[in-house]
Amino acid sequence: MPKGINYYVEEAKKTMDRRAEHRKIVKTWKFDTIACHGIYSLEEAMSCGQGGIIEPVIASTSQAFRDSDELEAALAYKIPSWSYARIHNPTIFYLEETLALLETYGTDIEATGLCTSSGMSAIKQAVEPLVAQVKGDNKPINFVSSCQVYGGTYQLFNVRMAERGVEVKWVTSPAETDKWEEKIDENTRFLYAEMPTNPQQGCVDIKKLADLAHKHEIPLIIDSTIATPALLRPIEHGADIVVHSLTKTIGSNGNCVGGAIVARHNLTSKHLTDEQKGNYAFWVKLLPFRDSGPCMTPMTAFQFLNELKSLRVRMENFSENAEKVVEFLSKHPKIEKVNYLGLEDNPLHPLAKKYMKLVDTDRPMFGHLCSFNVGGKLEETRKFFDNLNIISRATDLGRIKSIATIPAISTHQQQGEEGRAMASIPPNMVRLCVGGENPEDIINDLKQALGK
Ligand SMILES: *Cc1c(COP(=O)(O)O)cnc(C)c1O
Repeated sequence: MPKGINYYVEEAKKTMDRRAEHRKIVKTWKFDTIACHGIYSLEEAMSCGQGGIIEPVIASTSQAFRDSDELEAALAYKIPSWSYARIHNPTIFYLEETLALLETYGTDIEATGLCTSSGMSAIKQAVEPLVAQVKGDNKPINFVSSCQVYGGTYQLFNVRMAERGVEVKWVTSPAETDKWEEKIDENTRFLYAEMPTNPQQGCVDIKKLADLAHKHEIPLIIDSTIATPALLRPIEHGADIVVHSLTKTIGSNGNCVGGAIVARHNLTSKHLTDEQKGNYAFWVKLLPFRDSGPCMTPMTAFQFLNELKSLRVRMENFSENAEKVVEFLSKHPKIEKVNYLGLEDNPLHPLAKKYMKLVDTDRPMFGHLCSFNVGGKLEETRKFFDNLNIISRATDLGRIKSIATIPAISTHQQQGEEGRAMASIPPNMVRLCVGGENPEDIINDLKQALGK
């Protein structure tokens, strides 16, 4: 006797209700507890992980069904299932849930996460539906972005978007909210900023920017890669969508590439349909994401899940190390200028302090990324850089190991001199991301390289 589709729908409802009940309890926990457990309850462990205390890697391309009714219900998205690993997967689900819970920590805001193959694909998936041409409407499409964005984002916005007639309007002083307002018109689809920015250490007034976006009925997207939810949760301040390169600070061990979108439910956009706005991340997952295929692998999700468990402790350690290194650099005669939001004399310090704090404390904290300009002739910058011993020369950041690069010849090479000048990236700037080593050793490495 076939059970019928309704049987599976009813059973799924019961599971979903129990999951929702458990999720409510999880929402009352502290940050570290959520980071350690997410929604991986004993029930989840019994049904998905053979009782294993750590979320399992479900390394299977697809899911088998009991009968044709269950298969049909699953493929019609009528029951929570994962079907095929390009669309979904249980290990990835636990990561998405944990990220959404951490990004909305301390609020009753509902949000959903979507994991992607990389940070760039998260950004692409987040913005793509927003810049879609509505059928029968030939109005030009634009969006407004801080010009201080990651090099890959700059190329996506400046080159790839232009290729299809979508215009990016750059804001060159993103901390001043009125500079954003000047650029918005009726064809503006969204606002986009990073906080804090890489490598200049810029920041924006998220709350004011969100209010401005909402006044124009468009969403605000924040790339929060450098801050992580341990230091900043933009949704709490009004942002609609947060994007992450999980590759970086969240995945500080440096083994995997991945990204994530976390979108609040019922986000603001006059261009999206109600169905799209209701649960944007989930809608993207079920349709455009499924159709373009930038999925994460289960093994990668497993590694990020395990790194998330100690995120707050790591961010505290990294930030404290960075503070000590920045203090050393600020006093060094060969250094012209140090950019770090934690420096009291940084003009953006008061603004950054309003938003960036170690979660569950009142301690202002600014992460492990800084940059500085080396004085003297341009060769001095390269000479110093080439003499570093412990600090790796690499176009990477967010690592447990300290890493430095010269943005003008690496991460921001492609955007050209004009683009770099606009984004305040001089050729003598070195970007340094301080890791988990003892800061004394990092300071000594900098000292000897500057002395040569
Ligand atoms: C690295 C980075 C990205 C892109 O992420 P990938 O995982 O490398 O694709 C986006 N935004 C910021 C701030 C980054 O540092």
